Amino acid sequence: MSKVNTVLGPVAPEELGVVAVHEHIGYGMPGSELDTRWWKTPEQRYEETVPKLRRFREYGGGTFVDATGICNGRDVDYYKSLSEKTGVHIVACTGFVGGDTALPYFARQSVDQLTRLFVHEITVGIGDTGSLAGVIKVGVSRGGRMTELDKRIYRAAARAAAATGVPVLTHLAIDPEPAVAVFREEGLPLDRVLFGHADDGLNAPKTPHRWIFEQGGRIGFDTFGYETELEDPPFWARPRQERLDHFLGLLNAGYLDQLLVSADANCSPLGWPGVKGHTVNYIFEDLVPDLRGAGVDDATITALLEDNPADFLTIRA
Ligand SMILES: [Zn+2]
Repeated sequence: MSKVNTVLGPVAPEELGVVAVHEHIGYGMPGSELDTRWWKTPEQRYEETVPKLRRFREYGGGTFVDATGICNGRDVDYYKSLSEKTGVHIVACTGFVGGDTALPYFARQSVDQLTRLFVHEITVGIGDTGSLAGVIKVGVSRGGRMTELDKRIYRAAARAAAATGVPVLTHLAIDPEPAVAVFREEGLPLDRVLFGHADDGLNAPKTPHRWIFEQGGRIGFDTFGYETELEDPPFWARPRQERLDHFLGLLNAGYLDQLLVSADANCSPLGWPGVKGHTVNYIFEDLVPDLRGAGVDDATITALLEDNPADFLTIRA
């Protein structure tokens, strides 16, 4: 039977509803949990997060994919209680945001060790939470080129994905040639890979979108809402219309089946203030109206928000 792993157990793909495919309950750099200036009580975290997820549910949101890596504040028992409280399916990931956020304990591990870790979290569980990871996160370290450690993590992810049928989601789609080579060598079909952050102001100009599509990869326009128009925009912001036009250009060129969208927002950031005025609900409040305003029909919007992510997340036998 087809299924997707969520923190509360397997869910049929048709039950996912609208999916926010790249989001964060709370993301922080490794070590930020030790910085007492940023400590939050559990109550504060709930207070910041629950209303956003409830609103997401009210808007018709069904599933929230948390793309927070092992060392970046992932907290699966907390996700379980959020999912129970709000009725939103939450998918947790195994893996790392990038080689440069993998702590030394993990950074020293071989491809075999990392593969076993990922497979364990997908098939046995994440610690004693009883939850199975539903997606594997990998990424390109700062600097714009894949490091040796990035490649080791990608190879372990490819092996774990091929062995378990769970998909791979990447942080950044720059320097994709070595990544595609690794996936091919490990026999992972490229439609099992979502090349993320292909749309932000910093990385979009360096991402070979059409080349990735030609290889069969999926592309995430998953930082919608990080706009230069914000009151205090982050360094990866991009003018709203420019991103939308870029997206529509690829959509109209026939790449609908390979495109996914999300907002990459933090419900309650860890060790940094986050970006004010940006939440997962950008998808409903701004993105969908922008798409409709540009003449995108409902069937296409359903494909982007429901069918494509369901196909991507469904564990492939
Ligand atoms: Zn992210």
